[in-house]
Amino acid sequence: MKYVIWVAIIFVGLWWIRQQRSGSNSPLNKKNKGSNVMLPCAHCGLHIPETEAVFGQHLANGNPAPYCSPQHLQQHEGRA
Ligand SMILES: [Zn+2]
Repeated sequence: MKYVIWVAIIFVGLWWIRQQRSGSNSPLNKKNKGSNVMLPCAHCGLHIPETEAVFGQHLANGNPAPYCSPQHLQQHEGRA
């Protein structure tokens, strides 16, 4: 039984090292790190990650206004 536990630990360790290595070099990860920005919902002010924000047609500082949810987009901008 101890043998199985050690194999599991080594397997997880190798997987973790792989994650660390591929994570720092892959362009996808860089993109995620670069876009890890919190934006305030234009309707309620709640801060959400840029990747999860819903963008409306109104402009905020020259960019599409971010919303925390499609509901707030509709409530704030009316029916499109
Ligand atoms: Zn909101």
